[in-house]
Amino acid sequence: MASSDSRQTKFILDESRIPRTWYNIAADLPVAPSPPLHPGTGQPIGPDDLAPLFPMALIGQEVSAEREIEIPEPVRDAYRLYRPSPLYRAHRLERALDTPAHIYYKYEGVSPAGSHKPNTAIPQAFYSREAGVRRIATETGAGQWGSAMAFAGALFDLEVKVYMVRASYDQKPYRRILMETYGAEVVASPSVTTEYGRKVLSETPGNPGSLGIAISEAVEDAATRDDTKYALGSVLNHVLLHQTVVGQEALEQMEMAGEMPDVIVACTGGGSNFAGLTFPFLGRNFREGAGHRIIAAEPEAAPSLTRGVYAYDFGDTGRLTPLIKMHTLGADFIPEPIHAGGLRYHGMAPLVSLLKEHGFIEARSIHQRASFEAGVAFARAEGILPAPEPTHALRVAMDEAIAAREAGESKVILLNLCGHGHFDLASYERYLQGSLEDYEYPTEKVEAALAGLPTV
Ligand SMILES: *Cc1c(COP(=O)(O)O)cnc(C)c1O
Repeated sequence: MASSDSRQTKFILDESRIPRTWYNIAADLPVAPSPPLHPGTGQPIGPDDLAPLFPMALIGQEVSAEREIEIPEPVRDAYRLYRPSPLYRAHRLERALDTPAHIYYKYEGVSPAGSHKPNTAIPQAFYSREAGVRRIATETGAGQWGSAMAFAGALFDLEVKVYMVRASYDQKPYRRILMETYGAEVVASPSVTTEYGRKVLSETPGNPGSLGIAISEAVEDAATRDDTKYALGSVLNHVLLHQTVVGQEALEQMEMAGEMPDVIVACTGGGSNFAGLTFPFLGRNFREGAGHRIIAAEPEAAPSLTRGVYAYDFGDTGRLTPLIKMHTLGADFIPEPIHAGGLRYHGMAPLVSLLKEHGFIEARSIHQRASFEAGVAFARAEGILPAPEPTHALRVAMDEAIAAREAGESKVILLNLCGHGHFDLASYERYLQGSLEDYEYPTEKVEAALAGLPTV
């Protein structure tokens, strides 16, 4: 069936093309972001409020309005382990869908941790080391962020302590073993090692944990120890900034391919891989009037952008973090145990939320069975097994390609294949056996969680 095709499939950049700067979209935003607020005073927070948690260099990036921020040479050097990542044209998937659309994917699964997350774990470890920090405390859901941080900690000689959501800790031992192999210490959250963890366990013994609870534990750990800083794998401005190496490379690779994307899609948990791919293209929209359509693909079971409210809320369940203006389902909302663990978060990056609120991007929510169906079709056509998270983006990209076929029009689609699914085979097995469930978004539970929104 496979006919030979002389058109180019893979677009590879030389190491010298690893970007030298990160792209800061704050410089080009047509609307002003709302500042994070101190949960006690309700006033905008300053750098000093964040100093117990983050090294100053990262706090500077968090609030910077400069368009280009230089990537330190030791960070570029570590990026060389896997960057530039390849961009592919999905000829075989196009044929399988019988679509005139051109589908391209940027593949971040080539990193040692298997996802885009090392793009920010590496600079976070670097700046911590520079600031004399010895130890990092962080959380992880399914284990992708934890393994990226453990890997980066090993590169820069930092101790890493990971609070891993209990349900994943019990059900998904392989990511834990990967983190331990890199030298990290992993505990199940809620744990007895923090005051907040002990409180949760005394109120609800056997609590399966959540990302919101694990964040509270890691923040408490970092805030109560002088030698320790906290690291977050998504949501914050500096995390999104670091991910823009993805989109900058993709821009150059699309130029090599001789076309520009009409539609750009990425999945959204906290918004970082989405921002990484799309912000450099959005910058073209803002500065040059380029007409890229940008779509966020989120799970139906945690649809913060499509069903949440745009309001100030806490980033964690223990209500320790600053208040951030974002699309939220409520800090107490615990999403159903969908297999795309990286998308089970109640909130969304404030920058992504702002762009959605003002109509600069679109969002769609997808059920997990439809996502896995797209993931399996992709694996059979292209050979790469996607992580459950980017199968949401694949679903949207494939639907766009099918719509192009039905309308009889050509279209160029670009998506972020932000990780591979080699640690998620049990989820694929469920799908293949037909036992994977779809979850409806529980409106009543969310109304309850939203009733608890802080008043500012
Ligand atoms: C963590 C993760 C996500 C979700 O986080 P974002 O910040 O929204 O990118 C999605 N996909 C993969 C592979 C991840 O590891």
